[in-house]
Amino acid sequence: MIPLRLRSKCDRSIEPFVVRISSGEGPGVDDATLTSEKPGLLSYRAERGDFHIRDVAPAHIEGDVLLVDPQRQIAHRLIRAASQHNTFLITEQCDQLCMMCSQPPKAHHEDMFTHFRAAARLAPPGAQIGLSGGEPLLHKEELFGFIDAALSAREDLSFHILTNGQHFDIGDLPWLRKHRSRLLWGVPIYSDDPAVHDEIVGKAGAFARLSGNLALLGLAGASLELRTVVMKQNAAGLVGLADFISRHLPFATTWAIMQMERIGYGRMNWCRCFFDSSVDFKDLGAAIDLMRARRQSVMLYNFPLCTVPAAFREHAAQSISDWKQKYLPACDTCRMQSRCAGFFEWYREEDGFMEIHPQ
Ligand code: SF4
Repeated sequence: MIPLRLRSKCDRSIEPFVVRISSGEGPGVDDATLTSEKPGLLSYRAERGDFHIRDVAPAHIEGDVLLVDPQRQIAHRLIRAASQHNTFLITEQCDQLCMMCSQPPKAHHEDMFTHFRAAARLAPPGAQIGLSGGEPLLHKEELFGFIDAALSAREDLSFHILTNGQHFDIGDLPWLRKHRSRLLWGVPIYSDDPAVHDEIVGKAGAFARLSGNLALLGLAGASLELRTVVMKQNAAGLVGLADFISRHLPFATTWAIMQMERIGYGRMNWCRCFFDSSVDFKDLGAAIDLMRARRQSVMLYNFPLCTVPAAFREHAAQSISDWKQKYLPACDTCRMQSRCAGFFEWYREEDGFMEIHPQ
């Protein structure tokens, strides 16, 4: 697993600060340059102060944007220059309790927008940065202010925002329209049956609220990625959901059907929820066929490629972020590995997919 938090050493009296690791000529005020390299310890100089990073090679963090936290003696890799999978965790608070949630909500919120603003300014050219939670729109005013500032400072940036779709209102319409070309909204919908959706997200009335807000996103011309984690609770209803999406949400950019992540509530509820699509792809296949027939985009996220019948493999994306992706020993000889999403780091073979077959 690629570490996102590095052990560091820094004067504890210094306030946390954001820097970009740079070995280039003429470093800017926000750049940190390497001053010495010893086994297991790199020393850097930045305008805010000297600091040290442990147990990493200089090349592995070149161009990264770090939040150096002297109190905790940690450097957070807010942006890894070599990765397409950079996400700012806006908050761990959430107003839903999804039964498969990989990041269970916490009551406490730490406002990091100042650091995110500094980091976005230092992102590599053309970066798309993920914004996730918890539920980011619980802090909508601060979030929108951050996005306004980041997009006006950098014309090449865009954001992919994961939200439960509960917190828009009609007053957001001008703002959504203004930024529609640079924001992609990832919004979960688990069923076209309100009772099933509400049960999965653990919130009465969630589907009704979501429906209105999806219509609002459509009215704004926003880019929308609908997301559905397939589970025992909703697998049989996928065809109905496909029909609902194609009739009521035709403006969606894509529909991502996702496999579960075995962490957080996903681990706690794994046996209750995990749907083994490697042994039963019938409803998934029918849902994809319906979307194809109606010329709407559909994707499969987090599906090991050999678990997807050949006729549907073109829809499978390498969706698992590089820092938490792994393959099984059996994958070593598989000629499809370079196209395969693989597995989450915390996946377990003993209660996972029954049918994994190297090709
Ligand atoms: S054997 Fe492994 S690498 Fe090959 S398709 Fe299956 S999961 Fe992917």
